[in-house]
Amino acid sequence: MEEYDLIVIGSGPGGYVAAIRGAQLGLKVLCIEKYPKLGGTCLNVGCIPSKALLHSTEMLSKLKHTGSDNGISIKDLSFDFPKMMERKQKIISNFNMGITGLFRKNKVETLFGVASFKDKNTISVATEGKETLVTGKNIILATGSKPTELPFLPFDEKIVLSSTGALSLTKPPKKLVVIGAGVIGVELGSVFQRLGSEVIFLEFLDQICSPLDQELAKEFQKILESQGLAFSLGSKVTGAETSQDSIQINYEINGEKKHIKADATLVCVGRRPNTAELQLDKVNINPDKRGFIPINDKFQTSTPHIYAIGDIVDGPMLAHKASEEGTACVEIICSQNPKIEYYNIPGVIYTHPEVATTGLSEKEAKEKNIDYIVGKFPFKANSRAKCVDEDIGFIKMLAEKKTGRIIGVHIISQSAGELIHEGVLAIHSKSSAQTIAEMSHAHPTLAEAMKEAALVISKKAIHI
Ligand SMILES: Cc1cc2nc3c(=O)[nH]c(=O)nc-3n(C[C@H](O)[C@H](O)[C@H](O)COP(=O)(O)OP(=O)(O)OC[C@H]3O[C@@H](n4cnc5c(N)ncnc54)[C@H](O)[C@@H]3O)c2cc1C
Repeated sequence: MEEYDLIVIGSGPGGYVAAIRGAQLGLKVLCIEKYPKLGGTCLNVGCIPSKALLHSTEMLSKLKHTGSDNGISIKDLSFDFPKMMERKQKIISNFNMGITGLFRKNKVETLFGVASFKDKNTISVATEGKETLVTGKNIILATGSKPTELPFLPFDEKIVLSSTGALSLTKPPKKLVVIGAGVIGVELGSVFQRLGSEVIFLEFLDQICSPLDQELAKEFQKILESQGLAFSLGSKVTGAETSQDSIQINYEINGEKKHIKADATLVCVGRRPNTAELQLDKVNINPDKRGFIPINDKFQTSTPHIYAIGDIVDGPMLAHKASEEGTACVEIICSQNPKIEYYNIPGVIYTHPEVATTGLSEKEAKEKNIDYIVGKFPFKANSRAKCVDEDIGFIKMLAEKKTGRIIGVHIISQSAGELIHEGVLAIHSKSSAQTIAEMSHAHPTLAEAMKEAALVISKKAIHI
């Protein structure tokens, strides 16, 4: 039986990064993956395919809506859906090969098959009826998560879609009801709306993309509505009737019964940790009520040489959070002392415009009794935004009143997902709004709005 210093179960952004870091630190590493390709949810059915389709459809939408104002006329603008899907798949395949190459370069071994515990150090890997046993001194569980089903709406990936099914449709549905207006729902809903689908969201809460800063969420909803997406908030889905090629969804608003018919529904009501196949009972690990694996601040489970990271533990279900944890976990195993700033992990929604946020929201600052000032700057006063037809949204910066230290940055704009990193750096380096205000920002750029928001806090704003 082959013995390893470290066995990583799962090759998503948590697992594959942990495996590479372990090998870099001199460990003999094996990564076990159930799916026949490396990269996990993020690469195969998550971040990357969704962003590839968001890009293709954003191009289409921009040409449709701003082409003629820019002096561009395209007769019979149309799209080729299979070609978009093919492009998306090519990007995924390239990165699949990229991770395989990185594993080879770093001497990380790979076994494809379903991993389950035999005992505290022995893992069985089942591949098409064949079982391989391996042992590890340290084991990292990085098995990620999968879409949550509603009990009365099992996924058939034709009419009742999970995000995975929606990413591999053969044609856009005419009318799509998205249950859950969270990040994944609004991203995929935007993709299909741009392709001509009528898209209606049923959301249980009274805000979209909770726990987004409320002001940002309201503005975001208004913008998405202006693009043609429809939202029904406070809507509790109670049941559904499915036929061969359509569905009726029953829901309630304030106790009033309603229903809506559609060609398909996309259920985006959350994701749950993937632990069922691991046989955790054999190693004394008990997931909590929601299915997450409890860990201490060193990522150790109740069995100390077995660690857990990424979507199967508490915290935001984000690829970069999983990767940070993968790196930190391995460094702890190798007696280093890494730190993750959980309060400063950016979250991005890759719609058009994008939404990006890091640090505290106003609500969180209030809950922590922090006396803060808000610096807000609208993109309609930013010259680059005007030049590129992107003058919607704003930057909202929160700074501690006493020290001026930046505690939160919230952006809704074109490229917000890139702009946010100035905010991440400011919070990481404990910078004040004054520091950002003093930094030279190139003109004309969207980033100048960050300087202006900081200038608002310093009461020196020029452009508003
Ligand atoms: C549509 C969509 C869009 C998303 N977009 C973004 C985004 O833009 N940005 C972002 O940060 N996050 C995004 N996410 C979330 C992101 O994909 C996850 O947070 C991330 O993939 C979690 O990484 P992980 O390593 O914990 O697990 P995963 O990526 O889920 O990987 C876990 C791996 O473990 C394998 N596995 C499970 N059980 C076993 C077993 N018993 N044996 C062997 N292997 C096993 C699985 O096959 C899988 O490959 C998105 C998710 C979805 C669904």
